[in-house]
Amino acid sequence: MHQTTHSATGDPRQVLRRIRDILDENPDLAPRYEEAKKIIRIFRKPAFYEVTQRCNLKCEGCYYFEGNFKPVKEQDSIQAWEDFFAVEKERGVSIAYFVGAEPALEQERLVAAAKIFPYGNVGTNGTVKIDPVVPYRISISMWAGDDDTDKKLRGASVFKKAFKNYQGDPRVLVYFTLSRWNLGTVRTVVEMCRDNGFPLTFNLYSPSNTFLSKLNGGASNDNQFFRVSTQEDTPMFRDSDLAEARKVVLDLMEEFPETVLYSKAYNEWSTRPGPMHEVDENGLAPRCGSRILGHMNYYGSDLKQQHPKCCTPDLDCSQCRIMSGGWSTKLQPDAHDLSSGEAFANWMDILGALNRIFVYENRHLAAPAVAAE
Ligand code: SF4
Ligand code: SF4
Repeated sequence: MHQTTHSATGDPRQVLRRIRDILDENPDLAPRYEEAKKIIRIFRKPAFYEVTQRCNLKCEGCYYFEGNFKPVKEQDSIQAWEDFFAVEKERGVSIAYFVGAEPALEQERLVAAAKIFPYGNVGTNGTVKIDPVVPYRISISMWAGDDDTDKKLRGASVFKKAFKNYQGDPRVLVYFTLSRWNLGTVRTVVEMCRDNGFPLTFNLYSPSNTFLSKLNGGASNDNQFFRVSTQEDTPMFRDSDLAEARKVVLDLMEEFPETVLYSKAYNEWSTRPGPMHEVDENGLAPRCGSRILGHMNYYGSDLKQQHPKCCTPDLDCSQCRIMSGGWSTKLQPDAHDLSSGEAFANWMDILGALNRIFVYENRHLAAPAVAAE
């Protein structure tokens, strides 16, 4: 999740001019715009840190270990991590993302960061509890609400373990990766989140280039990240599944307004058939907010800077519906968002949801996104 250096409508001055016009026509939107600006400021200079290259799961189509994965020698000295984070803070990092493989397997590195950055977000699979001294949003990925589907998708059933590990932990946000194989199981996880007081949001399964080439090349299944898919049956969405996913999400938003953190406008956008992002002749999404561009830095667990296209570089941009790319793209309003006062209000609803999803420290800022149209 990070801010783009691009503007979907081109010139940032034009965007500001258009926003001023909208606010002149709709003065009631002005206080909400002030809140929106506070949210955008937090994402002004994000940075990404790969905490470790180890993971204890085997998710089908894993975006991390396939493709261009090149192991590095991890930095083992905690003092070196602390010193490095201190320099990063000096560089002006506004929010730190701790990614992996699985960050919970090297917690001392997270504890080192906890002393330094005011805003942070840890992406984890929930199988190992992260020390309570780490004061950041703990974003737990879940892929199923029953044992069989979880085993099929991740190589082990882990969702119940995550609930057990984090009982009563206010840092937790669950993000459920919707796929063709689990739409019928998501309700169970939403109910468990309600019972545990955890907010829940959605991610959408997005295939990696490696996964697609194995599938299209008729590769045999292996015991790693291509264990169960066949050409006829994969977790990927077809258009009809996207329509079903949209409906499942809408129903859950209506039924569990206290638990589901989402936005109707975002749901509509992310489940449209066809590419979610505009893709250029090189197959890249130039305006995706997750692109590692400009002053947005990405570091491996050797603490050296890397230059991937984004933090999930093996994903195919033309089929990517991953939440980080989707939400971060919405940090800047596009032409549609600026087309009317109503569209602009919807964009601010999306920003409010984004804040509540990604920024634990700031959860008091925007109103619940469930009011979004
Ligand atoms: S996608 Fe699954 S297997 Fe891959 S790094 Fe994440 S949790 Fe581990
Ligand atoms: S793979 Fe997804 S998140 Fe990464 S740049 Fe492409 S569209 Fe954005």
